[in-house]
Amino acid sequence: MARIVIVGGGMGGASLALLLAQRTTHDIVLVEQAALAADTLPDTPSYDARSTALALGTAEILADIGAWATLAPFAAPIRHIEVSHQGRFGAARLDAREEGVAALGFVAENRHLGFALLKALRNVRVDVRAPMRIDTIVREDAGWAVCLIDGSALCADLLVVADGVQSGTREMLGIGVREHDYGAIAIVCNATPREPHCDVAYERFTRDGALALLPLTQQRCAIVWSLPAARAQAMLALDDDAFCAALSEASGQRLGGFAKAGVRSAYPLVKVLAQEQAMPGAVLLGNAAHLLHPVAGQGFNLTLRDAVALADTLARAERDGVPPGDLALLLSYVEARARDQQLTAGLSHGLPQLFTADNALVAGARDLGLLAFDLLAPLKREFARQAMGIGVFTGGTSRAG
Ligand SMILES: Cc1cc2nc3c(=O)[nH]c(=O)nc-3n(C[C@H](O)[C@H](O)[C@H](O)COP(=O)(O)OP(=O)(O)OC[C@H]3O[C@@H](n4cnc5c(N)ncnc54)[C@H](O)[C@@H]3O)c2cc1C
Repeated sequence: MARIVIVGGGMGGASLALLLAQRTTHDIVLVEQAALAADTLPDTPSYDARSTALALGTAEILADIGAWATLAPFAAPIRHIEVSHQGRFGAARLDAREEGVAALGFVAENRHLGFALLKALRNVRVDVRAPMRIDTIVREDAGWAVCLIDGSALCADLLVVADGVQSGTREMLGIGVREHDYGAIAIVCNATPREPHCDVAYERFTRDGALALLPLTQQRCAIVWSLPAARAQAMLALDDDAFCAALSEASGQRLGGFAKAGVRSAYPLVKVLAQEQAMPGAVLLGNAAHLLHPVAGQGFNLTLRDAVALADTLARAERDGVPPGDLALLLSYVEARARDQQLTAGLSHGLPQLFTADNALVAGARDLGLLAFDLLAPLKREFARQAMGIGVFTGGTSRAG
């Protein structure tokens, strides 16, 4: 039996710990810097005021690792998706019934998602150390000597780096990143529309950026509104009534406009990709490996697909007697995930660029694209499969579906 130390108990790290507890007999230690209360909703950098759109495939994985039963009452189904562009005629629609599923996905508040993951962790053999941080890591023959800030030490055969985009552990390992700053900020809040949302998710593109209105429980909507930094600051400074009026206008008065908005939070938008995701005895996961633009709601869904692949790779290796820190093994995982990661990162990066482009040719193609997308069943179905987390989008060339 080997020991795997996961640094970071956010959505990525906690999910991987549950998968490893289920699929391997390894000794698993999860080190999280924030305090994790047992019986209240968490409030940590990962489990904060945001909501997350969960693909259908993600919900299935959460069920598999014992978190869905707790989360389900707080997860609102998405039965219909409408993608539109302000002032243009094109619109694309996806419908659960047409795709032969009860829901295209779900939306849950991060705090409820965190509560469900942490509750599931209490039922498995994972040694959760929180609040705790790593002080130093030293490479040894077959792994790492990991010193924690309380003075204790652990030997790790594999270190999983899941401590977020500003990962201190990634830095300790000397792994660099490539960054792209979008010069934009995502305003996140919950808001109450005047009319029922009827389980519809709206993604609306404006010249300024993207606005997502996602259905939440209690007839609320989760808002993710990306704006150029200066305009976002102006929106954050408005009083609630003025903000609701601006939001209603930007949404094209969808759902009759908004009557109430909760606390607003701001997230600067950057894409950060680690230059390497594996080295001997260490592998990166989640935001530490890839932070994407949130426009397509794919970051956690992608991370969970990575986590399943990593857990399966480590489970196979355990059966074959291969140590979990073996570089060839970890590189085989990275290679297997490269295509999905590249496609998802490309989609998340390309969408905002496409929709804010001024060029008339691009604008025409974009509108025709939205219209054609609505008319072309195979392309639409394939996109739906990718959005639901059950396929890899190929632009209509695959025969899936
Ligand atoms: C506005 C916004 C909206 C989004 N919407 C969606 C969506 O709809 N769907 C979707 O799939 N994804 C979405 N995402 C992406 C999603 O939030 C991320 O993919 C997800 O947070 C990745 O989780 P993580 O565990 O890798 O990193 P994080 O969430 O950053 O968690 C890192 C964890 O590590 C801990 N930590 C940090 N440093 C240390 C340390 N030194 N020692 C120990 N612990 C440490 C932190 O406390 C935290 O718990 C969105 C992101 C944003 C910004």
